[in-house]
Amino acid sequence: MKSSKDALKKQSLSAEEAINRQWDVVVVGGGMVGAATALALGQQGFDVLLLERQAIDTYWNSEEPYRTRVSALTRASENILKNLGAWQGIENRRCHAFTAMHVWDEVSSGEVHFSALEMGEPNLGHTVENSVIQAALWEQIAQNDRVRLLLEARLEKLQFENQQACLFLEGNGKIETQLVIGADGAHSQVRQLAHIGLDTHDYEQCAVVGCVKTENSHQDTCWQRYRKEGPFAFLAMGNNVSSIAWYLPNEKLEWALSLSDEEFAHEVGMASDWKLGCVVEVAQRSAFPLVRRHAQHYVKPNLALVGDSAHTIHPQAGQGVNLGLLDAAVLVEVLSKARQQGKAIGCLSVLRRYERWRRGDNALVQRSMEGFDWLFKQDVLLKNEFRKAFLPLANRLNPIKNWLMGQALNGREALPELAKKRAL
Ligand SMILES: Cc1cc2nc3c(=O)[nH]c(=O)nc-3n(C[C@H](O)[C@H](O)[C@H](O)COP(=O)(O)OP(=O)(O)OC[C@H]3O[C@@H](n4cnc5c(N)ncnc54)[C@H](O)[C@@H]3O)c2cc1C
Repeated sequence: MKSSKDALKKQSLSAEEAINRQWDVVVVGGGMVGAATALALGQQGFDVLLLERQAIDTYWNSEEPYRTRVSALTRASENILKNLGAWQGIENRRCHAFTAMHVWDEVSSGEVHFSALEMGEPNLGHTVENSVIQAALWEQIAQNDRVRLLLEARLEKLQFENQQACLFLEGNGKIETQLVIGADGAHSQVRQLAHIGLDTHDYEQCAVVGCVKTENSHQDTCWQRYRKEGPFAFLAMGNNVSSIAWYLPNEKLEWALSLSDEEFAHEVGMASDWKLGCVVEVAQRSAFPLVRRHAQHYVKPNLALVGDSAHTIHPQAGQGVNLGLLDAAVLVEVLSKARQQGKAIGCLSVLRRYERWRRGDNALVQRSMEGFDWLFKQDVLLKNEFRKAFLPLANRLNPIKNWLMGQALNGREALPELAKKRAL
């Protein structure tokens, strides 16, 4: 695939050039959520500066092995990426549609099976490497004159004065904007510099991720087994290749990463109850401690937070980036309407609309993950009895199944326009 490096270079500014302009919006962080936010704003005619501390490239080689970080994208996220023009870039690189989900439990014989066919849907979502999503978004940014880039820049200080946000870069003066958007991930510097508090909860679990090849086909299905230690999941990728998410107590993180390939393959086989037979090949793997974080506020005058900078969640239901893309879509809709009505986009009453729309919904998804975690984590008699009843019941009652799947596919709340399917 041809690199858009030259186009990106054309749009990149030096710090001096960035300082000498008035920006509608500065987005800090060009990950999946920040890139989607900047692109959507650029498409709405805002003058946007996207500040990313790393170098970025959209080059893609299909021969490359699968990367460790993979996301399961919902229909709402697919619509957002299609409406932004980035979906084709994802399909041109690498993604996989899954048509079923199978959930089962270690302590009971209960299982539940969701199928796209039963729901009258072509699939239940797509598994895509994070780097592919990011590259496809950056490829679109490279074609949008409204978005300019400041790469490998270091933010030092943030100040708010005269209804403006001022970003001070390391040794390079200040950039002024009506609105700064923090899209700089879980350890958001923007959130910290703005003194926004954070509610946290340590799940005391880590996720071991990576790709494996199995003896048997994944049948385009995502498999999730609830175990006492934490869930184990196979996300369908290529030919007999699945991305795994193996949740373990934190104290096992180093052990899991120190295993030889043969040992790792064996442990993954056991954790998955050999559902796809033996693991015949393992690729690079990594592990992340899991922490729920929720910013006490998403907005302040002239500031908004989106994606992981505002919230992180247990990844067992694969919702993190999906929630972040919805944040981006809602924020851009709110800002565009405010501008049409002649309102200042940095004004708190405008930004609060975004916060009201998204914060409660994100909190609810976070809490429901904890409910699952609690239900399946410990081996207590009463809970075990409930588990035995829950999965078979959920499997038999189609309305429950369809409701659960509908929530997972499209999100719970009223969708912003960007997340809706558009007529061709
Ligand atoms: C094990 C695991 C599995 C997951 N699986 C799924 C899944 O299946 N589905 C799903 O939806 N989600 C999943 N998630 C969550 C998902 O990965 C995150 O929600 C998502 O990556 C957040 O994207 P983001 O753009 O908000 O933040 P990030 O991906 O963290 O991007 C932040 C960007 O900001 C840049 N940056 C950081 N600081 C600065 C700074 N000071 N200045 C400038 N730039 C800066 C970084 O370089 C980076 O490019 C999973 C998470 C984990 C840990």
